[in-house]
Formats: sequence, C-alpha cells, structure tokens
Amino acid sequence: MSVSGLPPYDPSNVFAKIIRGEIPCRKVFEDDWALAFHDINPLTPTHVLIVPKGPYVSFADFSEHASGEEIAGFVRAIGHVARELGLGGQGYRLLTNMGADAGQEVAHFHVHLFAGQRLGPMLALRAKQGT
Ligand code: 5GP
Repeated sequence: MSVSGLPPYDPSNVFAKIIRGEIPCRKVFEDDWALAFHDINPLTPTHVLIVPKGPYVSFADFSEHASGEEIAGFVRAIGHVARELGLGGQGYRLLTNMGADAGQEVAHFHVHLFAGQRLGPMLALRAKQGT
C-alpha cells in the first residue's frame, strides 16, 4: 500500500483506457494535462469527470507526486470545464473520492463535477442525520 491509500497504479484501469482512446467517452474537454468527459452513470443533470493525464491512483498520490505544472494544469482544466459548461452563475460541486472509506471505484485520480440542480446537503451522512 502506497501513500495513495490504494495499490500501485494499474494502467489497465478504465480511465487510462479512455485517455488512450481504447474505449469511448463523451468528451467535454482535453488539453495536455487533463481529459474531461461525462460520467457513464450521471447522478445529476450535469456530471462530468475530470482526470489528469498522468498515472496517479488518487488525490493523495497526485498531491504528493505530481509536478507543479501538472497540478496547475489540472486545476485550471477543471475551472475551464466549469466555465465552458456555463456553470459560473448557477454553481456546481466538485468532489473526489480517495480510498476505501470514500468508496473510490476507479483507481485513477479523478474529480467529479456535479451541476444542473440544487445539490442538497454536502454529504449523504448529513442528510440521514437530518442536520
Ligand atoms: P469513484 O467512485 O471512483 O469516485 O467514481 C467513478 C465514476 O466513474 C463513477 O461515477 C462511474 O459511474 C464512472 N465510470 C465508471 N466506468 C466508466 C466508464 O467506462 N465511462 C465513464 N464515462 N464513466 C465511468
């Protein structure tokens, strides 16, 4: 187990295949640092995944091992996607799942962008507690 909280990077993961063009996606944006595409199982009217091009399993891995250029390029790509989708006014939510407790399914770091409706409480846990 590495600092990432997950096993070492496996280039056969589904997002690596999408980056390499081996499986299709509904692309929203691409540059040298990032690829953005619609989630296959959207949870909100707009649900886009933004993934860095580099081989990082999680936020923990990316934040520790990516170069400053990669981090800046990735963060700017997220902002670009939100602007291109016209979400500045209505707002949106960014989320990343890191490791087992967060339920991370795909071991290639990614950020979810949710938008298109009122997004409700920040966590399902809080909704259950009714707070
Ligand atoms: P995680 O739970 O790892 O944060 O989120 C993984 C996300 O990837 C899920 O929302 C899931 O619907 C999405 N996903 C899994 N496989 C594919 C795929 O082949 N294509 C696309 N576009 N999204 C996928």
